[in-house]
Amino acid sequence: MNLLFDVSTCVRATSKFSECTKCVDICPVNTIEIVDNIPAFTPSACTTCGGCVGVCPTESFSLSGFSSVEFFFKFLEEESSELVCQKDLYSCLSVLSVEHLIAMAIASDNPVAIDVDACSCGGESPKLQEQLRLNIEEANFVMSTFSDKEILIKNRNSEIEKREEEVKVASRRSLFSLKGAIKSKQAFEEAVDADELKAFGIELSDISKIKNRVIPDKRKLLFSVLKRLDKPESYEVLATEDINFTSQKFVDESCTNCQICYRICPTGALSSDSKFSLINFDAMLCVKCHLCHDVCEPNAIQLQPGFEIKEFFEPSQRVLATFDLKRCNECGNYFTYHGGEQICMRCKIEEEEAIELHELARTRNNV
Ligand code: SF4
Ligand code: SF4
Ligand code: SF4
Repeated sequence: MNLLFDVSTCVRATSKFSECTKCVDICPVNTIEIVDNIPAFTPSACTTCGGCVGVCPTESFSLSGFSSVEFFFKFLEEESSELVCQKDLYSCLSVLSVEHLIAMAIASDNPVAIDVDACSCGGESPKLQEQLRLNIEEANFVMSTFSDKEILIKNRNSEIEKREEEVKVASRRSLFSLKGAIKSKQAFEEAVDADELKAFGIELSDISKIKNRVIPDKRKLLFSVLKRLDKPESYEVLATEDINFTSQKFVDESCTNCQICYRICPTGALSSDSKFSLINFDAMLCVKCHLCHDVCEPNAIQLQPGFEIKEFFEPSQRVLATFDLKRCNECGNYFTYHGGEQICMRCKIEEEEAIELHELARTRNNV
């Protein structure tokens, strides 16, 4: 199993203003670092625990040979109810996001139990175990607003059978021994490559992909499970800090309609019309990647203090802002009118520059 990275879906490739460090923060062996604003990692140091896969809002990291969607259907088919790190998965269970956990708990006929204490995937670092606990707690909290399903947290002293053998982190690490590997030139080169920091540049082929709006599989999975549930009689509102995989927003009056947020939102949660006269928002498409906040210069886009569970069952597209578009008196193009002279920003700047040049020429001539 190898760690794979798709630079075209990482929010850092979309904008240099992105401050996302979720993958860097979760990595228990600290092998992910930011190089030229893009995540980079050393393959031989990676334990393929999948922590970064689980936390990445846009699913930019993945593990070769592992599909969370296939895992979901296999879990249901086998009518399993208990999950144990490294027994049920060749990676850490923290590879499963809150969305996966909710989808599994709801779709499963049996109560799902997770042996959290069995997770030793982070070695000395408790980061993954903590993340797994946080994911379960968040999944349970969100589910408690519309379902009586709950993921049980089991510990070592519980009735869950102990794993037959303790798998040590070191044994999972792809310690590609050079000694044994020098069987062929290719194997040697692979071993050397694995020890080098793998940095990712943005190729020409990535640029068109960056512009694509991609809804992560985990969101599609959650949505298809929720669609099959009966709607609750009433809907609750969660505090925004209690839900980390989606959000609701508002836009305040400082918005200049610079268009950046809805042009770069990776999933299309933010959008506009053909004239760019408004900002639309779909909470069910938002992955809370924070990119729109990172790029908004006046900080006009903000998190709504509460998240309405109603969005899970009756997804809506809300209009966050509308703009008064007028034709510029100078160039004739449409622009966002904020009052005063009916002239667009570009013409205004050009006019100011022309006045400055004129003043300069006049001063020189007088001298
Ligand atoms: S989008 Fe994913 S890969 Fe990119 S910096 Fe954030 S967590 Fe890392
Ligand atoms: S909310 Fe911010 S980023 Fe979006 S259009 Fe308005 S000013 Fe630009
Ligand atoms: S609305 Fe903002 S936080 Fe949500 S997916 Fe789009 S850019 Fe990310």
